[in-house]
Amino acid sequence: MALLEILTFPDPRLAKKAKPVDVVTPATTQLIEDMFETMYEAEGVGLAAPQVGVLERIIVVDCGKREAEEERPLQPKEPYAIVNPVVVEKDGKLVWEEGCLSVPGYTDEVERAATVRVEGLDKHGNPISIEAEGLLAVCLQHEIDHLEGVLFVDRLSRLKSSMVKKKLKKRALEEAATA
Ligand SMILES: [Zn+2]
Repeated sequence: MALLEILTFPDPRLAKKAKPVDVVTPATTQLIEDMFETMYEAEGVGLAAPQVGVLERIIVVDCGKREAEEERPLQPKEPYAIVNPVVVEKDGKLVWEEGCLSVPGYTDEVERAATVRVEGLDKHGNPISIEAEGLLAVCLQHEIDHLEGVLFVDRLSRLKSSMVKKKLKKRALEEAATA
């Protein structure tokens, strides 16, 4: 197991489209284990491979703990790893205050589908199908966006998105200068 470096905006790799995984190999499974470790260490609820510099279609999510804190007591840990995830059904609308490990220090409300069904492969290459609502549905859509090079700040209104990205770029430059 290894902790991976999480890329932050405006790293250009976060804006790239990830490639499908042809075959799930032991290296894929290892990457997934490392992504989980990295996500838990950073106290995130989801992570996509491009966020750790790997342009492959792999995501991990675990909204169990966070939901337990916020709304549902005794919700167990609920980790999902999905290779080549695709949203095959979606319904309704839901607005959620989102954040992202690649956009530290900023959250904003994003509108997404309220329920989704996502299909893909598990960490061993077996087909899986997940029906999700609430935070898990938000998480899955947010992580799948990363595979298209899309960040949650890209989902804001055009004006707000460009303002926020400008501010975040400026802050990243200032942080790089003082580091
Ligand atoms: Zn994210």
